[in-house]
Amino acid sequence: MPPMPSELAYVPFVSVENMMRLVHHHGIEQVLRELTDAVEADYRRWALFEKSPRLASHSREGVIELMPTSDGEVFSFKYVNGHPSNTAKGFQTVAAFGLLARVDTGYPILLAEMTLLTALRTAATSAMVARHLAPRGARVMAMIGNGAQAEFQALAMKSVVGIDTVRLYDIDPQATAKVARNLADSGLTIVSCASTQEAVEGAQIITTCTADKACATILTDNMVGAGIHINAIGGDCPGKTELHQDILKRAATFVEFEPQTRIEGEIQQMDASYPVTEFHQVLDGSAAGRRDARQITLFDSVGFATEDFSALRYIHCKLEGTDFFQKIDMLADPDDPRDLFGMLQRAA
Ligand code: NAD
Repeated sequence: MPPMPSELAYVPFVSVENMMRLVHHHGIEQVLRELTDAVEADYRRWALFEKSPRLASHSREGVIELMPTSDGEVFSFKYVNGHPSNTAKGFQTVAAFGLLARVDTGYPILLAEMTLLTALRTAATSAMVARHLAPRGARVMAMIGNGAQAEFQALAMKSVVGIDTVRLYDIDPQATAKVARNLADSGLTIVSCASTQEAVEGAQIITTCTADKACATILTDNMVGAGIHINAIGGDCPGKTELHQDILKRAATFVEFEPQTRIEGEIQQMDASYPVTEFHQVLDGSAAGRRDARQITLFDSVGFATEDFSALRYIHCKLEGTDFFQKIDMLADPDDPRDLFGMLQRAA
């Protein structure tokens, strides 16, 4: 059980700067590997978690979401937006922060930035699924959409799944050049491509990570050969998809939490009878994963609250004995719990 705030007398806050220090201290690939294991460990405890589709407030420009869960001992939530038009204004498409609290007192025990942490946990989740579903010996990944998430995805697939080559494509060549530059010393072979069709050539894993508030067709059926694992993470909102329907008709589709993915995932294109497997079932053996080398597997990722819970718990554990946090005075702490007003007068 994490310490009580009163034992600490403050709530630890991990700012963007401290998240960066923490990741640099351990090395990003180690963080991605450990985070993958942390996310998987909680998927193996699936039944313990409170689960609900996230609360989404939609607007013309994007969405603001709250993602809560609890394992009975610890509660977490993430606040996250999704605004594809933000990059043109110089803002992130996805920005987030999150909180962990003890269930027995309701007191927060961690507040953290989660823009970086979401990119890390999304990559870790993709890698967790791919290490169970991708074809054996997968070495080449096509990365369609070279925005903020792209490098994290590539590095997680390298360090967890063992890919050695990434084939990049984005409608914006500057985005592709940015990823090629950022991954130049990563040990990955980077191939910049002029089209999605070119990028998927020879790939065993295809990651789609584009942002457009539309039912787009990033991948068409003819681009997807037998045995491919598709890691589709960009379509994560009602009215926002990346794959042509015909791909879904050929694929075995795996999801995080079916009630949420039916609303937000690629499968919103299909009717309610379209079969899906929740990924935790693959881990507990109650459902099959990849059946054979020719099967197309699809991870229809939308991001689920337990992944944020795992990421926040992971960061919380990493704080002990470090200065990767600030102490924030977030909780009123009067000498007599009932004398809140007296405390206010003291401060005056
Ligand atoms: P971003 O805006 O930084 O990057 C998106 C990139 O996609 C841009 O470079 C853009 O040029 C490119 N793009 C748009 N249309 C394209 C097309 N037709 N072909 C090729 N490239 C195209 O966004 P990001 O932070 O990298 O996030 C990407 C998507 O992933 C968003 O939709 C976001 O909501 C989603 N996301 C999902 C999860 C999850 O858990 N599933 C987590 C984080 C982000």
